[in-house]
Amino acid sequence: MLRTYLKKLRLPTVARDFEKVASEAARTNLPYERYLLTLVEQEVLAREENAVRLRIQNAHFPILKSLDTFDFTAIPSLPKAQVLKLAQGEWVKNATNVVLAGQIGTGKTHVAIALGIAACRAGYRVRFESVPSLLQTMLEMQAAHQLTRFEKQLSKVDLVILDELGYVGLPKPGGELLFGLCAARYERGSILVTTNLEFGAWGEVFGDARMAGALLDRLTHRCEILVMNGESYRFRESQKRTTKSA
Ligand code: ADP
Ligand code: MG
Repeated sequence: MLRTYLKKLRLPTVARDFEKVASEAARTNLPYERYLLTLVEQEVLAREENAVRLRIQNAHFPILKSLDTFDFTAIPSLPKAQVLKLAQGEWVKNATNVVLAGQIGTGKTHVAIALGIAACRAGYRVRFESVPSLLQTMLEMQAAHQLTRFEKQLSKVDLVILDELGYVGLPKPGGELLFGLCAARYERGSILVTTNLEFGAWGEVFGDARMAGALLDRLTHRCEILVMNGESYRFRESQKRTTKSA
């Protein structure tokens, strides 16, 4: 009977553990309230873990990365304390933005994913997109008159990560779509951009200096800009390996 009720109430963790916890409680003379607390606590923890897992899944990260595995000494221009603070997620609550700017291989995508996962853990909905494939998807959706639905989906997430802005030149409609996305999120939802571009070069890449200026204006209005300068980490690691084996 109890199992049936627990199932009805959707308490799978309680259903799984109550007998084991009950015999443990009897052995240690645990008060009834403590027994109940133990069970309910486990249910709550399991639910929270599931929710985090689901948010990470829905974010579509290409790979999972964490700050624990990031070697801050490799990028002295990156203030570690500021990054760790960002990992607490407060900036997402305030709908502010982050730009990670630096050359290729300096760990921008790594840090972007790690901050995205940290935001998922802090309870925020996140969506990771690489700019070239995002624009392709959006252009296809536009052609199929499904763009509004997609934009509505994006507007529901708390943080959109736009990875790799600038590696390829944007076709004009792509620039407009990107501008539209940033304008729609302005002061409503966070954006994290990784880019290899100096801000001065955005006009050229967008093919429209005025639009690029307007986009930058919105993006950087309430924004933390982190410069990640250094040698390519990949390159350095492979150098180390070759020197070792030589
Ligand atoms: P970017 O996006 O700037 O081109 P990535 O984040 O893709 O660079 O980094 C390239 C690879 O090197 C990834 O596998 C990443 O995990 C690793 N990497 C880069 N920088 C660091 C670092 N400082 N510590 C640990 N791993 C790093
Ligand atoms: Mg990258």
